[in-house]
Amino acid sequence: MEGIKLDDVVLKTGNRINGFINYGQKPDGSNFRIPVIIVDSKLEGPTLLIDACTHGDEYEGAEAILRIMDEFETRGFRGKLIGVPALNFEAFAEISRASITDGFNLNRIFPGNDNTYITHRLAYVYMERVVKYVDQVITFHGGGDVLHLEPIIGYLPGDDSVSEVALGMAKAFNVKYNWKMQNLPFTGVSALEYKKAFGIPTILPEVGSHCDRLKSREKNVKICYEGILNVMKYLEMLEGEVVVRDDQMTVELNYIHSRNGGIQKLIKKENDIVEEGELMGEIYDVFGNKIEELFAPYRGVVIGFWSVPVIRPGDWWYLFAKILD
Ligand SMILES: [Zn+2]
Repeated sequence: MEGIKLDDVVLKTGNRINGFINYGQKPDGSNFRIPVIIVDSKLEGPTLLIDACTHGDEYEGAEAILRIMDEFETRGFRGKLIGVPALNFEAFAEISRASITDGFNLNRIFPGNDNTYITHRLAYVYMERVVKYVDQVITFHGGGDVLHLEPIIGYLPGDDSVSEVALGMAKAFNVKYNWKMQNLPFTGVSALEYKKAFGIPTILPEVGSHCDRLKSREKNVKICYEGILNVMKYLEMLEGEVVVRDDQMTVELNYIHSRNGGIQKLIKKENDIVEEGELMGEIYDVFGNKIEELFAPYRGVVIGFWSVPVIRPGDWWYLFAKILD
């Protein structure tokens, strides 16, 4: 495909290429690499990049990407699909949120650079060799191993045409919660940098979590899969009507951190609407004494929480959203 060039091609069929982009040689001679799947319809249309595992323990999107790429190898559509099921491949393989080698969180260091740490180089190489050549991005996240999250779709707000497309993609993805990503408490996020560098609309679905995988792994993969199909319809890569549920809500997600470490008790749970001042959670010390109470700082809806009984001081305790409409 024009633009995206792979260093190692491992499969080439009529319209599909599987391969790797290399971004750093290791002491044993092997490479750090990004797995890439390209499915080209050979018909004019957008180039949609779908990636997962920017955080290595968030697998629901990865499974959906593999399903989509297999399906569109034989099913007709317009444009090109670029699938990156495991962007931080090292973290993916080691079941880790962050990179193993240097410990960085990939979604805090975009746009990266070519001359410092290996995770920074991953961000840089990905932007220069993949993202630069696409028209839209779906970048999957999720609760990973320690959080629970209800499905929620992030988009960057704004009055420009890039933001308008991102909002349309978010609504088309079609889960209950649309996350207007304003007042983000961190920088170096891929969606922000893709917009800044290349004017590319990006949506960030958060779907699934480890505590949900026992019963709902397939259900969550299906949410990702159907979301992609609906976004493809919105982008006119596929024919058909964009199906949108009527209970979509716009929210602003906020992260409430624990003050102390201990054994935490969740009083408010997923999807609960909580009034300002209501008790949400408690933390107990190792002797069973209550050492912390969390009261809702505003009226909102519980999107997610720390799902492990033990919490450390400063961990994300609740993902608590303000309701905007
Ligand atoms: Zn993530």
